[in-house]
Amino acid sequence: MILLGSTGSIGVNALAIAERFALKVEVLSAGRNIELLNRQIERFKPAIVVIQDPSDRPLVAHSRVLMGQEGIIEAIRAAQSDLVVNAIVGFAGLRATLESLTCKKRVALANKESLVVAGAFLDTSDIVPIDSEHFGLWYLHDITRPIERMVITASGGAFRDWPLERLQHATLEDALRHPNWSMGRKITIDSATMANKLFEMLEARWLFGESSFDAIIETRSLIHALIDYRDGSTTAHLARADMQLPIAFALLGSVQERIVERVDLLECGGLEFRPIDPVRYPLWSLKEDLLRHPQRGVIVNAANEAAIERFIASEIGFMQISGLILEAYDHFHAAPTSIDALFGFDEQVRRWVKER
Ligand code: NDP
Repeated sequence: MILLGSTGSIGVNALAIAERFALKVEVLSAGRNIELLNRQIERFKPAIVVIQDPSDRPLVAHSRVLMGQEGIIEAIRAAQSDLVVNAIVGFAGLRATLESLTCKKRVALANKESLVVAGAFLDTSDIVPIDSEHFGLWYLHDITRPIERMVITASGGAFRDWPLERLQHATLEDALRHPNWSMGRKITIDSATMANKLFEMLEARWLFGESSFDAIIETRSLIHALIDYRDGSTTAHLARADMQLPIAFALLGSVQERIVERVDLLECGGLEFRPIDPVRYPLWSLKEDLLRHPQRGVIVNAANEAAIERFIASEIGFMQISGLILEAYDHFHAAPTSIDALFGFDEQVRRWVKER
C-alpha cells in the first residue's frame, strides 16, 4: 500500500495492522518527524519515501526520497499498489485523494477534510472511510429495511464538563486533553469545538447519500453509530475506542480475527447520553444549513484551519475559533463550482480569517 501521513496517529495504527497482517508497504510519506520515519523505513523497507520539507532530505535514510505535494503526487503515480491510505491531516490531504482517484486506486480515507471540502466532486465508490463513526454506520447499514435516521456519537471533547464561563480562558494544553481518544493535535481541537462532528455529518452525507443525519454525545465513546429503522427499531455499533478496527476493515476488506477486545456490558455499567448544546458548541448551529448546502463545507474547513493556527499562535482564545468560523460562514456565500475554483476559494477564506 501507499501510506500517506505514516508518522501520525492513524499512520502508526495503519502500520500496526500492516505488520500484523504482513501487508506490503510500497510508499511511506511523512511530514517533519524524520526520526520516526527512519524507524519505519528500517522496519517496512518501502520502495519510495516522501517528506514534506526539502531541508530534511539529508536526514532521511533512504535512496529514493521525493518532496512536498509534488512528491506525493509523483509517488502515487509511480507506485504499483492500488491502495492508498490517506492519513494526512487537513486540506493538505486533498490533492492526494484527487490524484489517487484519478489513478483509479482505492482510497482508505482518514483525511475527512477531503470529503468536507470536495465531496461534491469526488466519486466515493472508490473511497473507504477510516473513521469510527462511519465504520459503525457501514457496519449497521442494512438497505433491505427502510432507514429513518443515521446517528453518530460524539465524546464531547475536552471541555464537555467545563463550566461555560471558563471556556474563554481555555488554553491549547487544555484543549488537547481528550477524555477518550488519543489522536493528532488538530482533530483533538476539532473534537473540543465540535467541528469534528460537523465534518463527520458532511462525511456521512457524501458517503451514504441524502438521508437524515444527526449526532448525540455518548460520554465513553463505546457506541459509535446508531441507525433508526422505520419500523421503530434502533441498532447500535459498540466497540472499544481503537482506530485499528476501522483501519483493519479499510485495509483488508474483510476481517476474520479479533482486532479489539469486546466491550463487556457488565463491566461497563451505565452509558450516558447528552444532546449537543449549541451554547457550549456554537458551531453545532450550522449543522442543518450545512447538510442542506454541503458544498459550503469548504468555508467551515478553511476558516477552522486558519482559526486553529491563530489559536495555537496564542493570537485568539479558544471560543474565537468557533466565532471566526461562524463569521466566515456568514460572510462567504457562494460555494465553488469546480475543483479548480475550490483551491482559490479555500485560500480566500483563510486569508480573510487571518486578517480579522
Ligand atoms: P496527526 O497529526 O497525528 O498526523 C498527521 C500526519 O500527516 C503526520 O504523519 C504528519 O507528518 C503528516 N502531515 C502533516 N502535514 C502534512 C503536509 N502538509 N504534507 C504531508 N504530510 C503532512 O493526525 P491524525 O493521524 O490524528 O489524523 C490524520 C487524519 O485522520 C485527519 O484528517 C483526522 O481528522 C483523521 N482522523 C483521525 C483519527 C484519529 O484517531 N487520530 C480518527 C478519525 C479520523 P509529521 O507528523 O511527520 O509532521
